[in-house]
Amino acid sequence: MSKIIKLPTKIISQIAAGEVIERPANIIKELVENSIDANANKIHIQIKEGGLDQVFVRDNGSGLGENDIVRAFELHTTSKLYDSQIDAVQTLGFRGEALASIASVSRVECKSKIDSSQDVNEITFEGGDVVKKNTRIEKSNNSWTSIKVTGLFYNTPVRRKFLKKATTERKRIIDMVTHFALTYPDIHFVLDEESQNKYKTRLESPSRKSLLAVIFDVLGSDIASELIVIDAKLNEWQISGYISKPNLFRSDRSIQYLCINGRIVRHQELQKKIESSYGSQLMKSAHPVLILNISGPTSAIDFNIHPQKSEIRFKTSDTIITDISELIRTTLDENAELVTLPKHKQPITDKIETQVMDDLFDDKSTRDNILHDVVSLNQAEGEPHDIERKENFRQLSLSDSQTVVSKTGIEILGHVMDKFALAYANEELWLVDVHAADERVKFEYYEQGTQRSALSQQLLQPISISLATGEKQFIIDHKNELKRFGLNVSDGSETSILIHSTPVYFDQDISDLSIKKVLLDIAGFLGEAIDEDPIVESPLNKIEYGIVARLSCHGSIRSGYPVSNEVIAKVIDNLLKCKNPWTCAHGRPTILRLPKSRLEGWFRR
Ligand code: ADP
Ligand code: MG
Repeated sequence: MSKIIKLPTKIISQIAAGEVIERPANIIKELVENSIDANANKIHIQIKEGGLDQVFVRDNGSGLGENDIVRAFELHTTSKLYDSQIDAVQTLGFRGEALASIASVSRVECKSKIDSSQDVNEITFEGGDVVKKNTRIEKSNNSWTSIKVTGLFYNTPVRRKFLKKATTERKRIIDMVTHFALTYPDIHFVLDEESQNKYKTRLESPSRKSLLAVIFDVLGSDIASELIVIDAKLNEWQISGYISKPNLFRSDRSIQYLCINGRIVRHQELQKKIESSYGSQLMKSAHPVLILNISGPTSAIDFNIHPQKSEIRFKTSDTIITDISELIRTTLDENAELVTLPKHKQPITDKIETQVMDDLFDDKSTRDNILHDVVSLNQAEGEPHDIERKENFRQLSLSDSQTVVSKTGIEILGHVMDKFALAYANEELWLVDVHAADERVKFEYYEQGTQRSALSQQLLQPISISLATGEKQFIIDHKNELKRFGLNVSDGSETSILIHSTPVYFDQDISDLSIKKVLLDIAGFLGEAIDEDPIVESPLNKIEYGIVARLSCHGSIRSGYPVSNEVIAKVIDNLLKCKNPWTCAHGRPTILRLPKSRLEGWFRR
């Protein structure tokens, strides 16, 4: 007897399902692509709890007749592959496995009507089997299809476990629908959600004549107003869309939307190449906004390399990628004068900074062990050689500013390179990264201070911040966490939020810019920080840690700005009260200590 058996069809489709659909957003992708292939111009998507409880798509496309509705759900059935020419497929689907896969791992209700009949065909599947089928009459000449998917992965619990929280799945769905809206401006998309018994439109993109109008609808006014248009022909290729001016960017690639021959795809290599075209105009870890539509000969593109069809390969690889990046480079050069220059650097003379820093930690939180390590100067005071030493420093005069002795006795000698403080502490020369040090202080303040009411300062008037739909949703989904740390936000329009209060020592001349930066940074992080694993040695969970790290980073004295010795003294005093003074929240060192013995060794004394 043979040990090798053929897998039952059901198992095969369940395995296939795992590759095609990992999460609700993939289901939506498949269903919406089918609607587009059926020539729909209105597609209504409704989800429940981030799509975890239900995904529903209804379109006004050509519909399915009585026989086709059953066939559509069989494995490897498609109406889209003609003459076995897999290379020449013009539609979005062609594998004929999406519906079969979805049905095999969930409960699917499909209803459809074609225009030449008044029959509405209804069919329900559970785990791939037909459990209900009937026909009713609708007196209209319309055609439409609706598909409702519930109980996703109910029969494959392991896969169910891989699903994330509703907030994460919701964000992916919003991204997916945003991408569709940007790829098909003339199709009307609506995304609604029922969550905790509340019904809300998450995104609406009416049918528009121009892509820019859609960008305005779904990515917001800030993005829409900082773009450069792209419209070019490169041999047999057509490239159109928008790229951001270098002053508009994000900390990740979340606002890079590529469409190649009508397909929603990613293409890392192309995206990186385009980014490199920005050269030094863009900061190192900054990613531009891209909304690009590329079309070329079907035979030059391999669409069949990814189960979710979300990646493609250019067969004529290098040339087209190089050509596109060259196009972007010249376009940026031509538009160079349009770029708004950053404002002149203002020195930090911030009095409030100093005041607030005074109450950052109460005295109880003083960490004796650290202070012990850094024996205070007071001990040494009065000894003759010490007075001499001070004299010498005065003569050397590092900067115009007076040296300042901090509460902990450390002497601040000055600030060099607009970055590092130079300090003297009991036979040790210190180089302090002021930004990193201040960030650590603020990080621990947040970490300890979630209960403090003083954490928040009310703004006289709420500030409205324009964000892309997906970014906005993430911030709103986490507004309770943000509130705990003093940042109070509420829902504005589909592409904006309102800020009501900020953490107490956030930039006092609170410009929309700095608060916007921190929010974008937090939104970017929330996009990745999918789980809430606790971080070692912190009472905060991963989400909280990420938020706090960003709030403290953006709310700290910036690198590259002059700082007074008084402010540095405060920072160092507070730093030495921290639990973990030696690194900032990102793990970068705060202080470089050079003991006298090391220096003597270096100078061979
Ligand atoms: P593929 O899209 O690769 O053909 P699918 O499993 O996604 O495979 O769909 C199978 C078939 O069902 C399609 O080829 C199409 O004929 C039909 N179909 C699916 N969804 C719709 C829809 N919304 N409207 C009309 N026909 C549809
Ligand atoms: Mg399909």
